[in-house]
Amino acid sequence: MNNTYLLLGSNEGERYDWLRQCLRQIKKNIGTITAQSQVYETAAWGLEDQPDFLNMAVCVETIFEPDIVLSAVQNIEAELGRQRTVKWGQRTLDVDILLIDERIIDQSDLRVPHPFLPERRFALIPLAEIAGYVVHPIFNKTIGELLEQCPDDLEVRSKGHLTGL
Ligand code: ADP
Ligand code: MG
Repeated sequence: MNNTYLLLGSNEGERYDWLRQCLRQIKKNIGTITAQSQVYETAAWGLEDQPDFLNMAVCVETIFEPDIVLSAVQNIEAELGRQRTVKWGQRTLDVDILLIDERIIDQSDLRVPHPFLPERRFALIPLAEIAGYVVHPIFNKTIGELLEQCPDDLEVRSKGHLTGL
């Protein structure tokens, strides 16, 4: 079993619905959701002229190896209609793998821990809520410590827990 931490994001259309549908697909295709953060809203990072993002982090207990989890999340993104056009552009649903236990993976198509995690408050804040004491295996710091040191100053607003599940 692996504990895989995923970050879900949406900034297009019925954003709360994409998150709900994504959770359903994760349960069906990847494993058991053992922890789930609140939903947070953030201005878009990188490319700023686009709608705000909703993000949430989940912990999934899965029997699948990382490569299988990556294709499963990509299938969910494809099924829920994400269109890859512009890098960092608007998307109905983005699912990133943030951590898989304390494993380090460095492949061309999969890097875990997610390389931008320490620089992005919109990822660290929801992750810290469910995995504050988990250690980042490259920096040897907890997620809570990385959050305290994060230089990113984009505002991340709590929207409460996702309802209607
Ligand atoms: P981003 O999430 O950076 O905005 P994409 O979702 O389009 O961009 O991801 C681009 C590629 O990143 C994917 O094709 C995938 O193979 C690769 N990738 C590398 N590491 C990861 C990871 N930890 N989680 C998700 N995708 C990853
Ligand atoms: Mg992604």
